[in-house]
Amino acid sequence: MKPLILDSALGTEIENRGEFLPSFKTSIWSAYCLIHNPDLILQIHIDNIEAGADIITTSNYQATPELLKREPTAPLYSELAKKSLELCQKAVDVTGKNTKIAGCFPPIHVTFRPDLSGNQDQLNDFYSTLGAIYKNNTDIIICETMASIYEGTTAATIAKEFSNETWLSWTTRGNKGNASRLPSTELLEDAIIAGSNLDVDCQMVNCVHADEASEAIIKLKSLSTNFGVYANSSVYKHNPLDGFVNDSDEYHHQHSQFIDPEEYGNFAKKWIDEGVYALGGCCRTSTDHIKIIKKIVESL
Ligand SMILES: [Zn+2]
Repeated sequence: MKPLILDSALGTEIENRGEFLPSFKTSIWSAYCLIHNPDLILQIHIDNIEAGADIITTSNYQATPELLKREPTAPLYSELAKKSLELCQKAVDVTGKNTKIAGCFPPIHVTFRPDLSGNQDQLNDFYSTLGAIYKNNTDIIICETMASIYEGTTAATIAKEFSNETWLSWTTRGNKGNASRLPSTELLEDAIIAGSNLDVDCQMVNCVHADEASEAIIKLKSLSTNFGVYANSSVYKHNPLDGFVNDSDEYHHQHSQFIDPEEYGNFAKKWIDEGVYALGGCCRTSTDHIKIIKKIVESL
């Protein structure tokens, strides 16, 4: 079976089109655009579908109850989830394609900070509210950039209650660039085993360098049935001036070299050879990356 193609990076697309994109660490990041310029997000969905995406993901990644505390006048996260779903549905209608919609289950707090995940009650309330909005309206629920086994398994367990198809995507942006571990320092292997025990439909890694995604695929392939990847458009590049960098996200950016869509396509070919069920793009990827992946998939 040919692999399914996910869409490109929302934040990067927003930035590339000249819209304001504040820092994800201190603001509501892409949710700012969802609130103030939803038409741009609609156009990004349409462009991804036309580039060849089989699946588009809702744009409410940073619209969580914890992060929206930063914007006291912002709508509720449940309202923004509904709005992001409508934008996806509209994009599918406009293009007339058979594109699937994935409802986003993001981390409740700052990405790559599993220490801020919140307690079980907070997570249950958050994911159950999103799940009820997605139920019968999305084809898949995708738990994205999960940074600890607790966060990932909690999200996926609730996703399964509301969706016929649940995907669980880990990030291996481990401390000091240790690509075999999650930001929680837990081993990727242990996370995949936990996901397999939940019988999720696909396990992935996202928001890591493309070469690190290739390493993760070896583990995903041996420990899960369906697997996939949506990496960043970059590779690891050693920076000798890293002595004072402790933050795993900073470490990622300090040891990074951008790769262009063609080079990303070369990684995509290898991932397809490994048998990915789905692939797409995370940070720094654009619809150009999706067009290249589409070309590769069509040639299979
Ligand atoms: Zn990313």
